Amino acid sequence: MAARMGNGRPGSAAAGRGLLLVLVALVIGVLLLGQVDDAGDGEEVAAAGEGDVTETTGGDAAEGDATDGGETTAVPSAPSIAPEPGETLPEGGRGAQRRQPARAPRHRQRYCGLAVPLRALRQRPERAALLTDFDGTLSEIVADPATARPVPGVVEILSRLTARLGLVGIVSGRPVEFLEQHLTDPTVQLVGLYGLEGRRDGERWEHPGVGGLRDRVTDLVERARAELPDDVAVESKGLGLTLHYRVAPEAEDVVRRWAADEAGDFAVRPAKRAIELHPPIDTDKGRVVEELAEGFDPIAFLGDDIGDLPAFQMLRDLRDEGRTVARVVVSSAEVPEALLVEADDVVAGPAAMTALLAGLAEA
Ligand SMILES: [Mg+2]
Repeated sequence: MAARMGNGRPGSAAAGRGLLLVLVALVIGVLLLGQVDDAGDGEEVAAAGEGDVTETTGGDAAEGDATDGGETTAVPSAPSIAPEPGETLPEGGRGAQRRQPARAPRHRQRYCGLAVPLRALRQRPERAALLTDFDGTLSEIVADPATARPVPGVVEILSRLTARLGLVGIVSGRPVEFLEQHLTDPTVQLVGLYGLEGRRDGERWEHPGVGGLRDRVTDLVERARAELPDDVAVESKGLGLTLHYRVAPEAEDVVRRWAADEAGDFAVRPAKRAIELHPPIDTDKGRVVEELAEGFDPIAFLGDDIGDLPAFQMLRDLRDEGRTVARVVVSSAEVPEALLVEADDVVAGPAAMTALLAGLAEA
């Protein structure tokens, strides 16, 4: 066979050269395709003058990145290459994160502590609104809700942010009385009981529809304490109440039935290992956010629970209207899937969220 391949016949030599050219062309083609793929992965970072870098994130839109809908934004040069404060780059660097397969579920893909959506707040800080839930977002979830406290350092960070951003506010299901025990800085706006009461510039306010509701809540609280198992914690919120079965999970069905039977015209809402009875006033975190966000752009909301879903959905609507939004979830074993589906970013816990906010305050 070797003799035949090397027999010097003109036809065989021409065929051999032709085969060699085809192979060379294939190799060059593969190399060129690789370069095109690297340049066209949807994100590029290019020098745009002295000290500035223009970063385009349009290719991320298919993953639902709500940072800026693909708009081109200028960010300082060093942070655009180095990790952002509070940001943990994946193994292999920023490029490795960008090249993750698009088919990965968004919340799984982003579960790495990246704070990309919050960068929008740095770019227009004076017009930015930062709104956040309290329990499970700025504080760890605890068995006895009365003992919940802000994560160390987060109160001071929020105060620093009020000097930097247009608005910093807590939007919670807690009574304002509880919130202001821990958030004493009057420049941090407080909204409690899903919008039934609040503190604005240090002054308390109350929803106009709450008249007479406090007596009804007092009656419901007394009956719940008398009729539910002893290890169900009945928390009075003044204008509403929460029935906690965290330390008595076997009582969940009893609590649900009691709430359904006794709530009357109060709304029954699920929460983390708890049932909330909300007075018959049409308000939720979505409405609160819509009102607070008036005139602000960008707007961020941070949350961890199903009660935060209306806020996330409201921000999605505002984004559809052209405003820049960021919705960040604090993850846990109890975080609702519906919230993860809406999220633009996910962090691992209240301490990680605090680190994120510290980075925002120092930027
Ligand atoms: Mg919460």
